[in-house]
Amino acid sequence: MVMDLREIFAQTGGAMPVECNVNLSDAEYNGTICMPNPVEVTGRVFNRAGVVNFEYTANFAFTAPCDRCAVEVSLDKSESFSHVVVTQLVNEEDFDGSEYIITPSMTLDVDSIVREDVLLSLPTKHLCDEDCKGICAGCGVNLNEQECKCEKEIDPRLAKLRGLLSDQR
Ligand SMILES: [Zn+2]
Ligand SMILES: [Zn+2]
Repeated sequence: MVMDLREIFAQTGGAMPVECNVNLSDAEYNGTICMPNPVEVTGRVFNRAGVVNFEYTANFAFTAPCDRCAVEVSLDKSESFSHVVVTQLVNEEDFDGSEYIITPSMTLDVDSIVREDVLLSLPTKHLCDEDCKGICAGCGVNLNEQECKCEKEIDPRLAKLRGLLSDQR
């Protein structure tokens, strides 16, 4: 969706709701499609004291394999974003790369803004649980579901120690 913001720029105090779905079904995370369903965008564009703002919340389901155990986990995410929309940059130093949207044509390409914001908001680490035990490098079992099978092969030195400990009991 591309919005025409000429009216908003012209009218201090003016506001326009923004409600749309953005399709990010081609986005991948660790090689898998992570947002098969559309991202729901709810927000508004408004002119406060001559400064045009675009604020919105993106609600979406994020599905990806856990970084440690590879089990697919779906999380319901709600992320809020806020931008200042300008027709040109007055002061280069004000530019931090993300907060400002520069639109000489006074249009707002909601889809591409949402795409960039949402993709940047994705976690660098995705775990099914903070305490996920992962997969055993030795036997390959998911340690959240099963006991590791290779624990039975006890290191001979450890076996000796265990022997000593049991002798003391
Ligand atoms: Zn996990
Ligand atoms: Zn193991």
